[in-house]
Amino acid sequence: ERLVGAAADGEDLAVEAALRPKDLEEFIGQTRVREQLDLVLRAARARGGTADHVLLSGSPGLGKTTLSMIIAAEMGAPIRITSGPAIQHAGDLAAILSSLTEGEVLFLDEIHRMSRPAEEMLYMAMEDFRVDVVVGKGPGATAIPLELPPFTLVGATTRAGLLPPPLRDRFGFTGHMEFYEPPELERVVRRSAGLLGVEVTAEGAAEIAGRSRGTPRIANRLLRRVRDYAQVRSDGVVTRETATRALAVYEVDERGLDRLDRAVLNALLKLFGGGPVGLSTLSVAVGEERETVEEVAEPFLVREGLLARTPRGRVATPAAWHHLGLQPPRSSAG
Ligand code: ADP
Repeated sequence: ERLVGAAADGEDLAVEAALRPKDLEEFIGQTRVREQLDLVLRAARARGGTADHVLLSGSPGLGKTTLSMIIAAEMGAPIRITSGPAIQHAGDLAAILSSLTEGEVLFLDEIHRMSRPAEEMLYMAMEDFRVDVVVGKGPGATAIPLELPPFTLVGATTRAGLLPPPLRDRFGFTGHMEFYEPPELERVVRRSAGLLGVEVTAEGAAEIAGRSRGTPRIANRLLRRVRDYAQVRSDGVVTRETATRALAVYEVDERGLDRLDRAVLNALLKLFGGGPVGLSTLSVAVGEERETVEEVAEPFLVREGLLARTPRGRVATPAAWHHLGLQPPRSSAG
């Protein structure tokens, strides 16, 4: 597991429940989504009805699960949490849907990874609050219609574009979650530190925020590792200096790059003069699988403007040379 990976690890899952904001007011950043959701929920409450289905798109760790819980809390409704990969058969989905109570929120994480038959069942459930449960097999099979209480589906996906249009169209509201700005992450760190009983200075929080790749989950994780360091090596207070030293131990640099990210950039710059170089060649040079370089390291390097994928291969940007403290050759400098 990478310290700067966006997916949740075991420790994250254990701690995150305690760190989740409980209402929209407490939810930091995402101003646009928050304002839009606020209107959707207020209107639904005023009508005394159930909120429209909500689709949340964005990278892991940006707060989709948290928002779904907030939606339920704001509507005074219970919430059921499941995920696309957990629903293998349409029957699995039918069992969940038929046990929902009126107004309940169903959170379906990774909704783009649901099986096709389940997806088709979901269309009807979302639109008409009804499913057809097929009983028996072959010519004797019959479809028994089943009425469902009105519920709110909150679907989460890494990219809304991954969803088939008929599914996408059945959501009344789609919220696009953006990566967080450093000042917002600084607030996340200070808030979490308060909840965890960790003393942190403004500069300490800013230092962690700057290395968190725009992602609250990573900010919370780095905070815990810096707290450990502060406890063992100093007086327990997270200052800029302890944060910097702790994250040097964990090899997370000031922009949030880890060892793998830097190995990729180093190879690209020092062995291939900044590219262009093919992905396979670059991967061999780093000693990693092609998929690891392409899926684990590159997306963040591209997002940070350090690396570009071109038809001729991977190319370092001038910012990459600068980040590693190297002088770009004349040809790639302009
Ligand atoms: P996702 O479902 O998108 O993967 P989560 O909702 O599980 O992300 O959030 C990951 C962690 O980050 C949680 O501990 C949550 O408390 C924290 N977090 C996410 N968004 C925010 C936010 N806007 N304000 C404060 N904490 C947040």
